[in-house]
Amino acid sequence: MKNKILEIKNISKNYHNLKGEIKAIQDITFNVYDGEFIAIVGPSGCGKSTLLSILANLTDKSSGKIINKNNLKIGYMLQQDSLFPWRNILNNCLLGLEITNELTEKNKEYTINLLKTYGLEEFIDKYPDNLSGGMRQRVALIRTLAIKPDILLLDEAFSALDSQTRLAVSNDVYNIIKKEKKTAIMVTHDIQEALSMADKIIVLTNRPAAIKNIYEINFESKISPLERRLCPEFNDYYNKIWRDLNVKL
Ligand code: ADP
Ligand code: MG
Repeated sequence: MKNKILEIKNISKNYHNLKGEIKAIQDITFNVYDGEFIAIVGPSGCGKSTLLSILANLTDKSSGKIINKNNLKIGYMLQQDSLFPWRNILNNCLLGLEITNELTEKNKEYTINLLKTYGLEEFIDKYPDNLSGGMRQRVALIRTLAIKPDILLLDEAFSALDSQTRLAVSNDVYNIIKKEKKTAIMVTHDIQEALSMADKIIVLTNRPAAIKNIYEINFESKISPLERRLCPEFNDYYNKIWRDLNVKL
């Protein structure tokens, strides 16, 4: 049985500034199930980041409801890795724990183990400048995992990387998220990236973002994001979503 962990009900958001009101999100409703990987795809400027920051409780919604029965902990990973250059890799990864006042020996050990498990042991006392873009994103993910979130939110987390690195890192991050059995919600404007990783894709309209379509994505469960790209269904899904994004409402 799928276990529903989050209900997003009729969320809308209007921003107010000197020029007036900007409607960013309109009546968005969907459920999140435990262990699910959801991708939210939509054109630039449609309201994707706004939606994610509402889910992370960083931005107020104008109306609607979010039901988070078990008070799940949320981890947020941004487009820029935003590592601090003056902190070594371990201390960058401990930042979230410091902020939430949870920096115990046990949690520190947990973070060191994550760094070891995911191939960063030799960089523990190095500085961000010594790492490639892909590795820095991996560190940013581990920093997010260190607080033991129940749900991970990823906002265009790979878009600053070149296309080759981006494929490798998204494959990498996908494997880590699945291995750690996390639930993830990833925002992207890249249909292929969404298709290579997600179990469910929510397609948004132009601003104000409303739900255009929701797709259940069924690939054989064991295959990697890179392998998915070679499956014949990949193109079928791609064409449908491309049409959703390009047909005028
Ligand atoms: P996306 O992530 O899909 O590119 P955003 O959620 O960042 O879109 O932005 C959606 C719309 O809301 C844009 O028109 C943007 O200019 C506007 N917007 C975003 N943040 C603010 C803000 N803090 N104040 C006013 N308008 C904002
Ligand atoms: Mg954005």
